[in-house]
Amino acid sequence: MGQTHQSETMPVLFVGHGSPMNAVEDNEFKRGWEEVARGLPRPKAALCISAHWETPGVSITAADRPETIHDFYGFPRKLFEIRYPAPGDPALARKTVGTVRGARVGLDGNRGLDHGCWSVLRAMYPAADVPVLQLSLDTSRPGAFHYQLAKELAPLRSQGVLIVGSGDIVHNLGIMDFGRADGYDWALRFNEEVKKRIDARDHRALVDYHSLGPDARLAIPTPEHYLPLLYTLALQREDDSISFFNDKTVMGSVSMTCLTLGQRID
Ligand code: ZN
Repeated sequence: MGQTHQSETMPVLFVGHGSPMNAVEDNEFKRGWEEVARGLPRPKAALCISAHWETPGVSITAADRPETIHDFYGFPRKLFEIRYPAPGDPALARKTVGTVRGARVGLDGNRGLDHGCWSVLRAMYPAADVPVLQLSLDTSRPGAFHYQLAKELAPLRSQGVLIVGSGDIVHNLGIMDFGRADGYDWALRFNEEVKKRIDARDHRALVDYHSLGPDARLAIPTPEHYLPLLYTLALQREDDSISFFNDKTVMGSVSMTCLTLGQRID
């Protein structure tokens, strides 16, 4: 476990982060994130592609000490009091800018970490001792743009960087039902459809997600929570194992399903 596999290729993650409350509740989802981290090689840094950082063009965080951004409203005070003081890694940010050739990536020395990133990484690395960077989403661009851009991040996997897409496969807040523990029929169906295609390594329709019909239109009313999945999938190598965890849909229309690619099962 852990420290001994440093020189290996890092697995890649997609996490369904769901409600910000997952950062403070001791629930099955948080425990799933904790557990998956225990099975990973120790990363040199984590690069997160979160649904909650949308920009025109693509940016990467380059602060030495990125602040904790509380980008939500109407939640309990204890959530606003959380600080996740993981350091940044400006040198790695600059290196990543040089690695990506298909898009111009801007360095952002001011941007901190949003809850799509810290609510999950805080469970995985509570000591905040793994440097964290974020790459933004230009949501005006189609799925294929994101998938191609993500492919260029592949060298980071062999350099000990853990790449984490953080969103939700199904995310429709407009018709969410707070009192409901499971998912609407269409939400469960879409989640299964996506998993089936991931298992079959059939990424084409997932990239061109508009082709997936009416369930997709309900699951992805706006693209920001879905697109991080494409970053994870694009980084899949032929021999990577695929495993799902936290595979549940809650509040009718929010999927918590998470995915690891290439995680070694000891
Ligand atoms: Zn979110």
